Amino acid sequence: MNIFLTFDYELYFGRRSGTYQNSILKPVEALLAILDRYDVKATFFVDAGYLCKLEEYADSSGDVASEYDAIKRNIQKLYREGHSVQLHIHPHWEDCSSQNGAWVMDTTRFRLATFSDEDVRSIVRRYKEQLTSVIEDTEHVFAYRAGGWCIQPFDKIKGALLENKVWLDSTLYLNGRSNSETHYYNFSGMPEKFRYHFEDDPLVECENGNFLEVPIASYKVTAFFFWRMVIAKKLGGDLHAAYGDGGAAGGGLFDKLRMLLTPTYSVVSVDGYKSSFLAEAFDHYCKQYSEGEFVAIGHPKAFSRYSLSKLDDFLACYTKQHTFNTFSSNYFSEVQN
Ligand SMILES: [Zn+2]
Repeated sequence: MNIFLTFDYELYFGRRSGTYQNSILKPVEALLAILDRYDVKATFFVDAGYLCKLEEYADSSGDVASEYDAIKRNIQKLYREGHSVQLHIHPHWEDCSSQNGAWVMDTTRFRLATFSDEDVRSIVRRYKEQLTSVIEDTEHVFAYRAGGWCIQPFDKIKGALLENKVWLDSTLYLNGRSNSETHYYNFSGMPEKFRYHFEDDPLVECENGNFLEVPIASYKVTAFFFWRMVIAKKLGGDLHAAYGDGGAAGGGLFDKLRMLLTPTYSVVSVDGYKSSFLAEAFDHYCKQYSEGEFVAIGHPKAFSRYSLSKLDDFLACYTKQHTFNTFSSNYFSEVQN
């Protein structure tokens, strides 16, 4: 199996964004210490709207200038050390500002599809250019992950992605769905495949489509699991405390009740308590399929000492028998032929 560890590189989007030191730099450093021990490279989906905002305020604020500088250097280091750096878009940054040293978040327009066609084109172009300029490589970025999984309706963003030579998406996960004040997505009925082409709708396979979908691995979890997760968060102490120091956006009551009352599908993740089923989910995939791509997701801000120890165990167990890869245009051009 080809395993892809993918991480969304970003702050929090609730009332408190968290600090870049605790929500990004420290957990990324802790992650790299583990990956380096196994010589494993990962893929970082970088929130490029955040970079654009940093650039916008860097001239008028010394603090933002230092933040921009530290974040740029961190991304450059990831790229230089052989990790893949790809495009993650949280377009609500368009409506955010820096006031008295803190980010003021407005998540009214959380989904890219809520912007006008003209704005969508401008956002995708500017965000990709920003990311490309940070890593100083115009050929590297070709893959996309929608902020908060909100990729629908895809036809609103398709043209902008094509114009900017983005042809791979890794947003969907089997049977994923959410509906809250900020989020909306529904992946019910998507193909049960490691990868497939699509054109106008990522839920519909289209053999000659311009886009390749490489979904995040999905795992069915019981309501009991979420009760244990709540308890670990409340009573788990230091071991289960998140590195990040901000608050999440969204999290509608309906979604929360659904998770606490019925089985639901979750991404396979390195975040917090969810990391407890990382190995179990992978074993489940291996039983079902002998080869293919297994994509796990994580958010450095949501790592805990517990979750990184689970990642460490996972790498110790699987690096011998399986291959760890990054999102590269070479890899995906080859497997398609
Ligand atoms: Zn994100």
